[in-house]
Amino acid sequence: MSESLSPNLAYLKPSETVAISNETKRRRAAGEDIVDLSLGEPDFDTPRLVCEAGIQAIQKGFTRYPPNAGIAELRTAVARNLSLLSGGRALNPDQIIISNGSKQSIFNTCFALFGAKDKVLIPSPAWVSYPQIVHLCRAEPVAVPGDPEWGLKVSVKDLEAKYDKLVKGLILCSPCNPTGATYSASEIKSIAEWAHAKGVWVIADEIYRRIYYGNGPAPSFLDLPDELLERVVLIYGAAKAYAMTGWRIGAAYAPMPVVRAMAALQSQTTTGANHPAQWAAATAFGDDRVEPDVVKMVAAFRRRRDLVVSRFRAEAPGVEFVEPTGAFYFFFRVDGVTRLHDYTGSAFCERAMAAGVALVPGAAFGDDRWVRMSYAASDKDLELALDRLLNLIKVLGDS
Ligand code: GLU
Repeated sequence: MSESLSPNLAYLKPSETVAISNETKRRRAAGEDIVDLSLGEPDFDTPRLVCEAGIQAIQKGFTRYPPNAGIAELRTAVARNLSLLSGGRALNPDQIIISNGSKQSIFNTCFALFGAKDKVLIPSPAWVSYPQIVHLCRAEPVAVPGDPEWGLKVSVKDLEAKYDKLVKGLILCSPCNPTGATYSASEIKSIAEWAHAKGVWVIADEIYRRIYYGNGPAPSFLDLPDELLERVVLIYGAAKAYAMTGWRIGAAYAPMPVVRAMAALQSQTTTGANHPAQWAAATAFGDDRVEPDVVKMVAAFRRRRDLVVSRFRAEAPGVEFVEPTGAFYFFFRVDGVTRLHDYTGSAFCERAMAAGVALVPGAAFGDDRWVRMSYAASDKDLELALDRLLNLIKVLGDS
């Protein structure tokens, strides 16, 4: 069968994050006691006002095809929202394009920019879908290993080491999935200057920008001067900060020719994003009354981050982890948890699943010495999962 499939799919594998979460749901439905810390999905309900806007949109008859690039109200709301996060910087709503989730925004961006023979640098460990999406564009993903001494982030020197003339793009995620590390304003500026000098496109995935544990929103490419944004596509979306994963609304802010190309592309594939969901998202991004919900959710993520970090420090002091400063992931190293120091993330996750906790092995992100835990789960679930995991680490250490 597989020999009759297109070479477009030569590298295609199903998303591990999605697969593990589906498998966990199946097991839980069959009665197994498993705490699901696999998927990066807020455990909160979508804010009430946002839901009401979606319901009203359906009742008002916004159930026909949406404008292909997004309803004007949503594009304007996203532009205003990003502008408020970036010191009032002016953003042209025409440069915002709405898609079915930020995953599609990233796919459309890559498909519009990259093709055969192009290389795309991807700081690693990296979210599962980046290399896959680059392969689907027939381009070549090039992993740039992050520095373990530096939260697994990459520097200009690391990028330079992998650069050659075929490199056309860089996908940078900050705050980062899977590590939880955040690039500082000066790190972003150095990388942007390097990319600008090389003529490399940057896809700045800032879907987790609001979920940041420093002061204010996380540093962003939008804090940079205009000339450094000539070849930058910024990815944003409703899923994470507004607890709207199922509504499937993503956004990209890009130079006009790229927006036009992405619009043409989705006019041939999806005809824009779900119409009522766009109205709901316009309320999420644009109605200031939703902001207290975001603040509350981010405060809960911060509290849970503190809980995970303090329990690991106290109860598993030998286990290395990336200090999480944003997103809702805890990335910890497991190769040293046994005496032989050769344990893998995949083996650890199998044992964790048997002990009642679903996690994602680092193999999914390009380095199987690590494991990702999503702490976007209720406090009660998180406490139970930590009891089980820290006990497992102790058992493995004694074995
Ligand atoms: N981005 C989330 C994660 O990494 C959602 C699942 C996915 O699309 O990969 O868990």
